[in-house]
Amino acid sequence: MELFAVPELPEIREGDDLAALVRDRVDLRPDDVVCVASTVVSKAEGRAFDLDDFPAGPRAREIADRLSEISGDEKDPRFAQAVLEESTEVIMEAPFLLTESRFGHVGVNAGIDRSNVPEGDLLLLPERPSDSAERIREGLPADRVLVTDTCGRPFRHGQRGVAVGWAGMAPARDWRGESDRDGRELGVTVENVADELAAAANLVAGEGDDGTPVVVVRGFEWGDHAESDAHFRDVDGDLIRQAVRGWEFD
Ligand code: GDP
Ligand code: MN
Ligand code: MN
Ligand code: MN
Repeated sequence: MELFAVPELPEIREGDDLAALVRDRVDLRPDDVVCVASTVVSKAEGRAFDLDDFPAGPRAREIADRLSEISGDEKDPRFAQAVLEESTEVIMEAPFLLTESRFGHVGVNAGIDRSNVPEGDLLLLPERPSDSAERIREGLPADRVLVTDTCGRPFRHGQRGVAVGWAGMAPARDWRGESDRDGRELGVTVENVADELAAAANLVAGEGDDGTPVVVVRGFEWGDHAESDAHFRDVDGDLIRQAVRGWEFD
């Protein structure tokens, strides 16, 4: 398997056809996985906003006050308002805002990004990243597309790429029922291939001024394994979320 970045992509603007820009720069193969940073998907979809677009309500002001007090930094209530508007559940308010976004992704600040955003103060994640992935896929000779974002993880320092949207492939490879080398049956392993590929692509894309938001994964083979649609956990089966909900920071 190899990965390479699509060269010489321009600054992406609202209305740009990402598939056409990629198609013009690389000869894709059907079994390539094209990994696109959510940042450029959002730019193309006009998801850049100014803080003034989010006049803060009482809840946002309350959250911002609390976070300002905790961090000693002045937090903008309009930013908290943007996070609330992007979210269906606030899982944790402090010491940072952890929410579920409208399409099911749990992340800090609803994945709202302030890096690599020349057109506004904030860049929201795409509204429905899997739909975005499907639209991009329709314009490409490649059969599989992922939309990625850089995210932190609980229990570990640092960030890595995750898949927030996918098209043309199931997100996970289901090993249950297969055997290990001793013939022991695997009982629980559902491997999140979308996140694994997104992490590798993100490693090539970089986080700063590299200018390489699209990475092609070539030669990845799914193998003879079942597919699973499991990606974002359902609230009911999410034990960590249930535990965090009851937790109070002070
Ligand atoms: P995120 O992980 O989706 O939040 O995206 P990042 O902000 O980390 O950017 C990922 C990569 O895309 C980095 O190499 C950036 O330099 C690059 N990038 C971001 N926006 C643009 C753009 O509009 N055009 C190009 N060519 N590169 C961009
Ligand atoms: Mn960014
Ligand atoms: Mn981001
Ligand atoms: Mn990134």
